[in-house]
Amino acid sequence: MDQKQTINFGAGPAKLPQTVLFQAQKEMLDYNGSGISVLEMSHRSSDFSKIINKTENLLRDLLNIPDNYKVMFLQGGGSGQFSAVPLNLIGLKGDRCADYVVTGTWSSKAAKEAEKYGKVNVVHPKLDSYTKIPDPSSWTLNPSASYVYYCCNETVHGVEYNFIPETNGPVLVSDMSSNFLSRPVDVSKFGLIFAGAQKNVGCAGVTVVIVREDLLGHALKECPIVLDYKVQAEMNSLYNTPPCFSIYIMGLVLDWIKNNGGTAAMETLNKQKSSMIYDIINASNGFYACPVETACRSRMNVPFRVGKKDGDEALEKAFLDGAAKRGMISLKGHRSVGGIRASLYNAVTLEDVDALAGYMKEFLKEHQ
Ligand code: PLP
Repeated sequence: MDQKQTINFGAGPAKLPQTVLFQAQKEMLDYNGSGISVLEMSHRSSDFSKIINKTENLLRDLLNIPDNYKVMFLQGGGSGQFSAVPLNLIGLKGDRCADYVVTGTWSSKAAKEAEKYGKVNVVHPKLDSYTKIPDPSSWTLNPSASYVYYCCNETVHGVEYNFIPETNGPVLVSDMSSNFLSRPVDVSKFGLIFAGAQKNVGCAGVTVVIVREDLLGHALKECPIVLDYKVQAEMNSLYNTPPCFSIYIMGLVLDWIKNNGGTAAMETLNKQKSSMIYDIINASNGFYACPVETACRSRMNVPFRVGKKDGDEALEKAFLDGAAKRGMISLKGHRSVGGIRASLYNAVTLEDVDALAGYMKEFLKEHQ
């Protein structure tokens, strides 16, 4: 039976490259002649050692990760890192305080979690709406903060940094869950980067943590051992059973990124794809409206309203229904913001975006 043509614009778990799915399917019952599936494999076996080493090496290669950084593959998701970051780093300096930039749902959750372990200073006045990044020259950074934290791409609100903030001393920590490997990044500017895999680099279950070596060994005594970076780094993420299958899938995705030109090629493609949608929004005379300031509009998650600035709910429903009829799914905005959200991660192709752009033009013509 022919498979129905579906285009997945979901925010995560999200679309994976077709070739990755084919490869995983091919190897599902018998990985590399071992007679078993990766799902059944011991994490201490030589086959799995090869898988995890290959995945790490590909990541080091794709991001040019300096030798003085450790790479870990952990469980607990991005949310687990909201706790792990302060548990490991807030004690770097005696005052136990950290600076947070809060530009959306995810950095807000991270800041709230960090408050359990120390003092959190939000470096700017609270935002009325998550549609911009407050001008960094107005941030009140605390020189005695242990670290400065920000979320590089706010998945719910579609706010993305196109610059790396200056901390004037404290180490920089970034949640890159929803734009990881969508473009090159200078890892040496960061103390720590983390990213859940289920958007741009694989499936749910594994979170990548890249951390500078000198930041290991400062965990608070209440830090659970599975979240202790020093323990996990020293044991190559094998203190306990790692998410083996998710790490394997990530390896396949990294192979795919490498074979398709690496992070620079991903960036070119992602610029092109997101422009196709933003151009239609901008040229629609307000029929489509993106609330996010132009300078920080995300290339990964494009939120917009239909009909008028705050959205016409009936038209938005009609838009989603029409999209579903054309096989375009998961376009509904996050329940906290409403409207539409098109997630255009690496695996979403130009053809996929072209189909959405065509439909948006058609819908505009019919309803304007
Ligand atoms: N950070 C960002 C930017 C996210 O988009 C998400 C989830 O969508 C999270 C963190 C939380 O990730 P998880 O659901 O893996 O805990």
